[in-house]
Amino acid sequence: MTESVKYDDAARQSGWLSGDIAFITGGGSGIGLAVARRFVAEGASVAIFGRDLGKLEKVIAESEFPERMFAVAGDVRNPEDLHRAVAATVERFGKLDIVVPNAGIWDFNRSVTRLNGEELSATFDELFGINVKGYLLTVEATWRELVKTRGSIVMTLSNASFYTAGGGPVYTASKFACRGLVNQFAYELAPKVRVNGVAVGGMNTDLRGPESIGLKERSIAASFARSEVTGDNPLIPLHDASVDPNDFTGSYVLLASRRNSGNITGNIINADGGIGVRGF
Ligand code: NAD
Repeated sequence: MTESVKYDDAARQSGWLSGDIAFITGGGSGIGLAVARRFVAEGASVAIFGRDLGKLEKVIAESEFPERMFAVAGDVRNPEDLHRAVAATVERFGKLDIVVPNAGIWDFNRSVTRLNGEELSATFDELFGINVKGYLLTVEATWRELVKTRGSIVMTLSNASFYTAGGGPVYTASKFACRGLVNQFAYELAPKVRVNGVAVGGMNTDLRGPESIGLKERSIAASFARSEVTGDNPLIPLHDASVDPNDFTGSYVLLASRRNSGNITGNIINADGGIGVRGF
């Protein structure tokens, strides 16, 4: 949908994030990677955090400005991994201005009627461990550096943070919980750190399911026809079958930019094609 953003060196010096340093969890694919690349185009340098170091290094090698990207491996459920990654990022780039808690998994619409008690329990523990505890721990590991720079946090939320039918009950509850984290952290970390979110709509990415119910190898992109996730949906006024992660990155840039949203905190941009317009 959106034309890719290309900046030459001169333009990057005047980009909205010129000189900033960002840390993005789940930055090796999908939305996280698109945001990382856009931040670099806007003049930032970016650490991408994920479980597979080889995969992260490969996407950096394929990037336009590999010297402005840095791979750090770890699991968002592990506070030691996150602290080690933040220390490595600060050692590499000197500071930290922007944090994007983004790593997540989906429940593939597993409704309460499709899971038995054991499966539901396992799904909850694994999915909340990544989607909610992962965001909590990411903020815990980074806020001290953000206070030093008067930086900001931009969390990836979802249409499921507001509406039904963006997943099953476990995923929906996890994304509602993250909406609560935006509010609470905006309150706790003011006035030095701003905290906002982008509630992105559905799109085909590598988004996986819980290993505990056998959905780790399944990805949202491989599981649905493109039109089911995005286009041809009368409930999404701006539905567009060609929507992809690059179409959402502008909202992250705006909220991360001190110059352009320095007085915005506790806010969420609904970048979901207007689902809420119909008021359900
Ligand atoms: P994705 O799978 O491409 O990205 C998620 C990333 O998180 C992957 O790189 C994955 O390896 C990483 N990750 C997963 N578990 C991790 C862990 N324990 N530790 C470290 N990294 C881990 O999928 P995506 O669609 O880009 O998802 C990014 C975010 O967007 C998620 O929070 C998701 O809930 C949200 N989202 C996606 C959609 C969609 O339709 N794709 C819609 C709304 C919201």
